[in-house]
Amino acid sequence: MQTTLKSQVIFRGQGLHSGRPVTLILHPAPADHGIQFLRRDFARGEGIVRALFDRVNQSPLCTRIQNQHGASVSTIEHLMAALAGCGVHNVLAELDGPEVPILDGSAAPFVRGIFGAGVVGLGRELRAIRVLKPVEVRRGDASARLTPAEALHIDFEIDFADAVIGHQSRSMSLANGAFARMLADSRTFCRQADVDAMRAQGLALGGTYENAVVVDGEQVLSPGGLRHRDEAVRHKMLDALGDLYLAGLPILGRYTGVRAGHALTNDLLRALFADPTAWELHSCDTRTLAQLPGTALHAEDIPAVA
Ligand SMILES: [Zn+2]
Repeated sequence: MQTTLKSQVIFRGQGLHSGRPVTLILHPAPADHGIQFLRRDFARGEGIVRALFDRVNQSPLCTRIQNQHGASVSTIEHLMAALAGCGVHNVLAELDGPEVPILDGSAAPFVRGIFGAGVVGLGRELRAIRVLKPVEVRRGDASARLTPAEALHIDFEIDFADAVIGHQSRSMSLANGAFARMLADSRTFCRQADVDAMRAQGLALGGTYENAVVVDGEQVLSPGGLRHRDEAVRHKMLDALGDLYLAGLPILGRYTGVRAGHALTNDLLRALFADPTAWELHSCDTRTLAQLPGTALHAEDIPAVA
């Protein structure tokens, strides 16, 4: 069954790149609406941006979507991950600016808000995208791949020069509350050198040592240190879940990312949908529903930091 929120939920915070205050309101939406953003600072009818892979207007640092009227929404990936991970299929996300609030740099506050509002069934059949054959994309030494699987799995591997991150890998099924329990509280991370470069370009103006894990060599500069020893790879998996949800429906398949990022995951969705023999629409039966992210999400799954 398709779902939406039981009631609206409001988040207030700052845009990571603009540094501007922003209010985000998630509204319940009817079946087959999907996830849509509404820029209410645009003229009526011109502010709707659907959360779909072909609306992505590439940005190297975050996922940004845009409509034909020039209305864009940046840094949608952590909210998209929370919606996917909590099993929410229909929502209208209203914003008064161009960027989703960064909050603590993870998806945990979104998960807590969504869980608090409650998720309700809409009595309409849910369909999923079932991967039928391997699809892979590459850029340099980075790759992203989808292969057939009964339910969504994410495997990820990263390699960073900074010793505090280094080589990290993790593999997991996203069934039920696994996202909330294992990935949701992992924060965006970056190097001090990247922060300096971004600031020089007028980006990351809302970035702080509280809403991003800033590292330098062997040191974590953010107070309190890491939430998990492998917080960096967990955050990359969180990003991948959010970016994959731009398929418009849950995916049944195994995603494998090696040093992948937002752009590569978007390339992967474009490659998948460009090949009609690589996927099919699957009507979810009870067995499939039981394995989807967010099914049987419990309060104990919500991270303590949220
Ligand atoms: Zn991220």
